[in-house]
Amino acid sequence: MNFDQITEPLDLRLADGLTRLAAVARQLDWQAAEAAGLSPTQADILRFVAQRPAGARLTAAAAHAGVRKATASDAVTALERKALVRKYADASDGRALALKATAKGNRVAQAWSSSYAPIVAGLSQAEQELLLGLVVKMIRRLQQRQLIAPQRTCVSCRHFRENVTPGTSTPHFCAFVGAPMGERHLRVDCAEHESAA
Ligand code: SF4
Repeated sequence: MNFDQITEPLDLRLADGLTRLAAVARQLDWQAAEAAGLSPTQADILRFVAQRPAGARLTAAAAHAGVRKATASDAVTALERKALVRKYADASDGRALALKATAKGNRVAQAWSSSYAPIVAGLSQAEQELLLGLVVKMIRRLQQRQLIAPQRTCVSCRHFRENVTPGTSTPHFCAFVGAPMGERHLRVDCAEHESAA
């Protein structure tokens, strides 16, 4: 008997492990949302909007939360009733509406820690750096296959210059900041992100 014959394929075990971690993170999110008197979708949308002080479109918020536009619209109505979110005319398109968090909404959103924080806390600095590179890579692949809403990551940013000084600890360059960056500096949700597409 050898373990190659009795072990499930690597990708299946990895996917299984990630599913379990996602369930824990989701549960922590639900607990935080419930404590703030919000549904998980309302909490998702509030956090998304609070991270975009210039305003976020309803369609983008719905895609981020993984719900239909009508469901997102109901969640936004509930958030408006609770004075956590307001609708404004979008500065870039007078006919469209943008969502912005109120001061109260920002306070509520900032009080939540990331649901994955206790999960990654058990990893060393080097392991976290390695994992960050892999997570960014997975997000990029999902974006290329259009399986995830557009994310504000370095690898899809027009300011990102990838691997311009290979073999160094900071092989990449951010033209916005004007500084070299390493894998450990990659951002998953950068406020200065501008799509390269
Ligand atoms: S602007 Fe932000 S997302 Fe773009 S390359 Fe620089 S750090 Fe990354």
